[in-house]
Amino acid sequence: MLARVPSGVPTCCNKDFMKSQDNCIFCKIVAGQIPSSKVYEDDDLLAFHDLHPKAPVHFLVIPKSHIDSLAECGPGDADVLARMMLKVPELARLAGCNNGFRTVINTGTDGGQEVFHLDLHVLGGPRDRWKSPAF
Ligand SMILES: [Zn+2]
Repeated sequence: MLARVPSGVPTCCNKDFMKSQDNCIFCKIVAGQIPSSKVYEDDDLLAFHDLHPKAPVHFLVIPKSHIDSLAECGPGDADVLARMMLKVPELARLAGCNNGFRTVINTGTDGGQEVFHLDLHVLGGPRDRWKSPAF
């Protein structure tokens, strides 16, 4: 099952709202207030399938603690960033990415970030089945 956003929860168009931790969709997913299709979970990280997959395999890895974006990270975030990156190959293999995968972190408005909670996209599967190879 894919994550569904309940009606009344803004999904776009209001970046100031999306930047508010109290109203963060990904924090609500972490809290179980919005369902998601989980790929992995531990004390610090959550991985779940993207609602709008751009490739046969497309999931997100996020820190459970709210961080607006990669641009907001500091030295205190080094451990969680490393844990996110180091978990990706294992999760990609389990998802069937046997010939490689792509990792993407969209940062800020010009970087295409849609939810202002740090998220690492993992995309894989046969390239001719990707919806947006340039992603
Ligand atoms: Zn958040």
